[in-house]
Amino acid sequence: MSAKTSVEKSTLRGPSGFLELAGQMLVVDFGRIYHDGAPVGVLYDDGYLQHTSGVLGSSGTLRPIESINGCLFRGIDSTGLELVLPTGERGPSGSMKFNGVLFHVVNGRIAAPDHGLVGELDDEGTIFLRDPRNKVSRRKLDESTQLSTIIDGKKSTGDVLKMEYHRPLYRKDKIYSEAEMIRYFMDFDQLNGTQKKYLFENLRLWAATGLLQVVRKSEGNCALGNVKHGAAGQTGVRTGNVTLDKEEFDRDIEYYYEHGCFAAVTTRIKECLEVRLNLVVAHEFGHQLEFVLSQATQDKIKDLYREQKKRCDKIHPLPHEYGGAAELVSRHQIEKRVFVSGYARSTHHEYWAECAAAFSVKPSREYLKKQDPAVYDILCKIVYEPETVLRPVLVEPIMALQASLRAGGELHENLLNE
Ligand SMILES: [Zn+2]
Repeated sequence: MSAKTSVEKSTLRGPSGFLELAGQMLVVDFGRIYHDGAPVGVLYDDGYLQHTSGVLGSSGTLRPIESINGCLFRGIDSTGLELVLPTGERGPSGSMKFNGVLFHVVNGRIAAPDHGLVGELDDEGTIFLRDPRNKVSRRKLDESTQLSTIIDGKKSTGDVLKMEYHRPLYRKDKIYSEAEMIRYFMDFDQLNGTQKKYLFENLRLWAATGLLQVVRKSEGNCALGNVKHGAAGQTGVRTGNVTLDKEEFDRDIEYYYEHGCFAAVTTRIKECLEVRLNLVVAHEFGHQLEFVLSQATQDKIKDLYREQKKRCDKIHPLPHEYGGAAELVSRHQIEKRVFVSGYARSTHHEYWAECAAAFSVKPSREYLKKQDPAVYDILCKIVYEPETVLRPVLVEPIMALQASLRAGGELHENLLNE
């Protein structure tokens, strides 16, 4: 087991409840076991006992709860989720790699290196994850939620258990988020190294949080093509598919690696600049993302847009000779602009797509947080509290997928700082 096995009062995070043993009830308080008020050992969420004495027998080493006959724990784990140990039928023991993350399996319990209980594995190789975020103690994984899995161990019967699961149409050698981005982008193999890097930077956040998969299944994918009228991309209203213009794609990439997320470009109007955001892939994804939001969320976005447009028209109305709809600013107004980019002023759809794009990478995300906290808040909710902003029919699929992505190391609290 890991090096984290020494018991320190302050850091121990174990279950709380009662341990039943030969008709006696022992109290378990955050992993510490007491018999008549005296400490007699430690119990971890994953069902390991350590430093036992007295009625539990004297032993300093780690051993599974099954090693003491008739010993049964009932209560809650350190996350507050209901826990019974041993967990139902005895399952396999060995190791399990889930999206490349290594877990230890003991009698069917999937254990993290810190003795957290991740879920259960049965002798057939079926995985049931614990989902403390949504208070679900057993989530059976299926084809749309299970990440690549390699199991190497022995069944409860002693027979060898070796299994590999790979998601259909996913590259076996890639972690989930990369394989998902490759699946989303039709012509991935035709891209050069810089184009691939750019694609990954645009979409990584959305892939790691499961939104890309939900959007791809509900709306569509993305491909290179020829977009008319000189636009960089378009999202089909009926099909939901994104087409990126081949030439504009390269120009965006060039801007991005030369100037960063934002570039202030000159316009036909003297002294007037337009701020552009160089994240076309994330922008088009933003259009797809709008379709999976609840009606209430879409209405809120419309309201935010209207307020900003009003303010924009008041502070710096567009010059009469300008026929466009983008926000134009003078050089000294760039940091005081109303919209995240000039193009975001054109319609509420473009406003949303530009904000979603800005949220996709760290530098523009930090700018958006200061400049438009209300829309930033909606975007945070999409990532971390999707049940509050997504269409009701998509809530269960995203919750199940996100539980899996947490276990697989893709979705974590620090994603927005990366
Ligand atoms: Zn657009």
